Amino acid sequence: MKYLDEFSNPDLAQRLLERIHEATTRPWAIMEVCGGQTHSIIRHGIDQLLPPEIEMIHGPGCPVCVTPLEIIDKALEIAARPGVIFCSFGDMLRVPGSSSDLFRIKSAGGDVRVVYSPLDALKLARENPDQQVVFFGIGFETTAPANAMTVYQARRLGIANFSLLVSHVLVPPAIAAIMESPTCRVQAFLAAGHVCSVMGTREYPPLAERYRVPIVVTGFEPLDILEGIRRTVLQLESGRHEVENAYPRAVASEGNAAAMTMLQDVFEVTDRSWRGIGEIPGSGWRLSAKYRDFDAEQRFDVASIHTEESSICRSGEVLQGLIKPHECQAFGRECTPRNPLGATMVSSEGACAAYYLYRRLELVETGHA
Ligand code: SF4
Repeated sequence: MKYLDEFSNPDLAQRLLERIHEATTRPWAIMEVCGGQTHSIIRHGIDQLLPPEIEMIHGPGCPVCVTPLEIIDKALEIAARPGVIFCSFGDMLRVPGSSSDLFRIKSAGGDVRVVYSPLDALKLARENPDQQVVFFGIGFETTAPANAMTVYQARRLGIANFSLLVSHVLVPPAIAAIMESPTCRVQAFLAAGHVCSVMGTREYPPLAERYRVPIVVTGFEPLDILEGIRRTVLQLESGRHEVENAYPRAVASEGNAAAMTMLQDVFEVTDRSWRGIGEIPGSGWRLSAKYRDFDAEQRFDVASIHTEESSICRSGEVLQGLIKPHECQAFGRECTPRNPLGATMVSSEGACAAYYLYRRLELVETGHA
């Protein structure tokens, strides 16, 4: 296949679905790790076409959703300061902090700018030497190489008025944390293909072995997801727990060597808090000692800000696959994409937003929302 729309071919999808139905004999709970996969599953109604025995559990892989409230509050504090140009991707602007968001800071006079690449922020820093330019560097292993490259370039070019507010998180420790949870129901994982395109697959065999779960690296188009589910079900039904790559057009088992070298130079592993979930040991990156001068938390002295999560929002349970979004009492009532209480309702990859966009009318008709 050459073109992306071929990965939505309905005849091929039907054939894959038939194979999944033929292979399924018992109930199985499969978690798709990535929010992009969640959106594809809900948007195309894939979960509704699967055998009733298969439950898709939506995982924590939405970078906006898991960025902790505390980091959002630190971003707001920095962005409100005079002399600061605060740069971010657009999807962070409406994520609620404790009492505000970046849009409101901007409307109150803060210089908040949407950029399409961290290198755009670096360019702004060069063009505005008398301003401090900060880039909000969030996300999984996928977005980290570009952020690492930007800090590397800032140091190489001597651009001292640039800094990075870092909140990078890592998928394998999150899979371990999910499996260690006493309430875990997950029996297999669809791993996030784009994360593996950077990091490869070498971190997954020890997890598959330790927790005896199949892990199938999966893409994002409907056929990718159906093929990932088909392979997962075959493993579950035959009692295997292996790592398989169902996304070979983008993922090589060894990953992207140049990106990983850059990451190792600029970042070091640290404990990270995940919004709604809490701290997961060794689950994030921070700037390494060599690049610590570019750490916005230190430069603006906001490291001491600590924040409590909202008591209404159940996004932590959503992110761990313990409840579906519509099981939150606030879904579609107090909490909507226009007035989000949690990041999972804001983000384009958030599970609450996916259910609101693609399932709300159906849920209202059946009395579930
Ligand atoms: S519906 Fe809103 S309040 Fe409920 S879990 Fe989702 S984001 Fe939080």
